[in-house]
Amino acid sequence: MPSETLEGIVLRVANYREHDRMLTLLTPGKGRVDLLSRGCRRPKSCLMSASESFVQGEFVAYRNQDRYTLTSCNISESFYPVRLNAYRMTCGAYMLQLALAAAHPEQEADALYGLLTDCLHRLCYETDKNPLMTVNSFLLLFAADNGYRPRLNHCVHCQKEIAPKQGAMFDIIEGGICCRNCAKGALMRLSASQLQWMRDTLKNGLDVPAVSEDKTLFEVLRRYVESRLETTIKSSKFLP
Ligand SMILES: [Zn+2]
Repeated sequence: MPSETLEGIVLRVANYREHDRMLTLLTPGKGRVDLLSRGCRRPKSCLMSASESFVQGEFVAYRNQDRYTLTSCNISESFYPVRLNAYRMTCGAYMLQLALAAAHPEQEADALYGLLTDCLHRLCYETDKNPLMTVNSFLLLFAADNGYRPRLNHCVHCQKEIAPKQGAMFDIIEGGICCRNCAKGALMRLSASQLQWMRDTLKNGLDVPAVSEDKTLFEVLRRYVESRLETTIKSSKFLP
């Protein structure tokens, strides 16, 4: 049977039969891939350490039509330190679940894969960084990557420019800020510094300095992204 090597991160595991587990991977080239890890829950199985959420590496699997069965894995990163802190673990699990909600089989996911890898590294090894701000960056860049980059310079209704030093109301349905005259419906307040952080992050990526109002920012971004995904992600109940 043909064998394939898939670079990926384990987004989800589900126990199956007595000793097996189904793994769902995010791969850059093929998007979401489900594979069977046969016997991985037997003591001494060489597949045990690869069959856990967060594990990143090269997964070797044989393919029978569209079903993959894992034969070996060369682990490059297990993001182990994430497991040592319950809050960081929740943040990490939330990002995995968002990636799972957005990834599709046979659909390239290069940008999402890169973003997830960078954010997990930050969560795991840059412990001076606020974990919730890493999640906020992930949510915002994830939205942009999925085609719903929020509009942050002009009112989404009347197109009036909003002065850069002002805060504004964010319209969850329309996906952007709105001016005072157009404010109605599902709105959430963004301060001037939160708005500037969002503009800077969309432009420069993950290295923008954190804002202090991280929790209200999370609430806006979470509601926006989850409404676009048309789902509620379980682990967000434990955040912020
Ligand atoms: Zn307006």
